[in-house]
Amino acid sequence: MHDGLNDEPALSLDGVTVRYGRTVAVEGASLVVEQGELVALVGPNGAGKSTLFRAALGLVPYEGRIVVHQTRRRGIAFVPQRLEVDLDFPITVGQVVATGRRAVDGGLPRISARLAPAVARCLSRVGLDGMERRALGSLSGGQVQRVLIARALAQEPSVLLLDEPLAGVDPMVTESLVDLFIRLAAEGAAIVVSTHDLALVRDRFARCVAINRTIVGDGDPAAVLSPAGLERFFGLPVAAEG
Ligand code: ADP
Repeated sequence: MHDGLNDEPALSLDGVTVRYGRTVAVEGASLVVEQGELVALVGPNGAGKSTLFRAALGLVPYEGRIVVHQTRRRGIAFVPQRLEVDLDFPITVGQVVATGRRAVDGGLPRISARLAPAVARCLSRVGLDGMERRALGSLSGGQVQRVLIARALAQEPSVLLLDEPLAGVDPMVTESLVDLFIRLAAEGAAIVVSTHDLALVRDRFARCVAINRTIVGDGDPAAVLSPAGLERFFGLPVAAEG
């Protein structure tokens, strides 16, 4: 009898509802993401994409059930749209990636001899081999995105949530970031990317989840983003005021 542990979904949400006061931001959302799966999360502004991420990360109270497959370090990691620090702040690429370990290792974001191999490994996975000592401020926008992803990978998560990582990114960089997401998913991570770039989702993603307060579509992007699908997906009220 096998224990089924390795077959567990990376992330499952069952009937998740999140309220901000009297606003129902997400209502009865159910979603299962398998290990190794890459999913695009689409929906109009205010549809609840960030709120769904916050619930999965345990940052807001919710009703319903959320289960994250736990790995050796952390189950779930988040890649924000932008770095919280000013790019002029004197910090190296390696130091930023090392902060990904801070929650589990404690202490300052310095690269100890113990952390150096993990930092190097994460940079290599995002295609920034050997860039530990580069000043963060000297990097291009696309490279900074990769550093943020490397920092999240340093947590060794089974689920990676990315908040609009392709917003304001030029087309070539977008393509290379999607290549990276596909590669990371193939390595076993479950990756959920929120985006407004529906053409890109049609071209490059195998699965699209549409949200408009609740999950209104889930599956092949060609079907979810068909005219009928879009009508349903944009047609629902975004949020009910109680
Ligand atoms: P999206 O990420 O899809 O743009 P959000 O999750 O940010 O959507 O927002 C969903 C709904 O919740 C919106 O109606 C928004 O106004 C509301 N909302 C988001 N954050 C808060 C908050 N901190 N307090 C109150 N309402 C919020």
